[in-house]
Amino acid sequence: ILEVEAPVAEAPAATSGVKISNRDRVIFPEGTLTKGELADYYEAVAEIMLPWAGSRPISLVRCPQGRDKKCFFQKHDAGSFGHDVKQVGILEKDGHEEPYLFVDTPAGLLTCVQMGTIEFHGWGARIEDVEKADRLVFDLDPDEGLDFKDVVSAAFHLQDVLGQMGLVTFPMVTGGKGVHVIAPLTPTAEWPQVKDFAHRFAVALAQANPERFTAALAKAKRTGKIFIDYLRNQRGATAVLPYSARSRPFAPIAVPLTWEELRDLESPDRWHIGDAAEMLKRAASKDLAHWGRADQVLPDL
Ligand code: ATP
Ligand code: MN
Ligand code: MN
Repeated sequence: ILEVEAPVAEAPAATSGVKISNRDRVIFPEGTLTKGELADYYEAVAEIMLPWAGSRPISLVRCPQGRDKKCFFQKHDAGSFGHDVKQVGILEKDGHEEPYLFVDTPAGLLTCVQMGTIEFHGWGARIEDVEKADRLVFDLDPDEGLDFKDVVSAAFHLQDVLGQMGLVTFPMVTGGKGVHVIAPLTPTAEWPQVKDFAHRFAVALAQANPERFTAALAKAKRTGKIFIDYLRNQRGATAVLPYSARSRPFAPIAVPLTWEELRDLESPDRWHIGDAAEMLKRAASKDLAHWGRADQVLPDL
């Protein structure tokens, strides 16, 4: 006797055409959210996610059995993702080339989801030239016990200081604990220069506000402070991509914001994978249509 799959559960997605198996598998147990619901989310936001997330090397957080089971961070693949998940060769330190993954279509994105991906992280460079950064990101990591309000005011402080240096920045809540302050760059500077800028900026900020900020890697030195994680700005480092879901309770998402919105935001995980329609509406709004876009280069420091 042939086993017949339930047609509704296996229906191909609307635009990507990628068939999602095990749609009813619960992958966020605390809210009984399923793989199918995650796929529907990514299907819906693909068009607003890909302009930023597409065509850059990515790392995936895969949790094939659910976020409470074994998860792993994946940068490479031998070909099991098929042809919609593309590869770009990148030189490693030892001089040999490794294939890194990228997607540039809804089918690529959804294939990753079919393979158990929950989170998408990306390099700060495009596949056309992986040696040149197209963004700076300051990942504000608050010590436990700090209020989200403290993170918000810290983000505004970075906006102010970076603004004085001529850099337009855009905030994003990560869906986790913090905020990323992002400065898009016209890709001209190479990684050593970008890392040096980010490092020196973070150290200077921490020196000027030692009770508020730290740039120290040692966890013990972060008590009661916000760690300015400048290390997202080195070759090969990744940061969570706009509109990525997070493998955290109730499936929060990373959301691009306006500075105005950030001012009054109560928490960094207020949006979830059920909010795709709101994301589309927001992204089309006048205030967010140009999020992440600015024609600017690294200033001197
Ligand atoms: P939060 O707001 O909770 O800090 P976040 O996305 O900023 O969320 P971090 O812990 O600050 O999370 O991590 C910063 C980045 O480090 C991640 O976005 C990711 O790109 C990268 N990262 C996380 N886990 C790994 C890992 N296992 N291997 C390599 N890079 C990782
Ligand atoms: Mn962080
Ligand atoms: Mn961090």
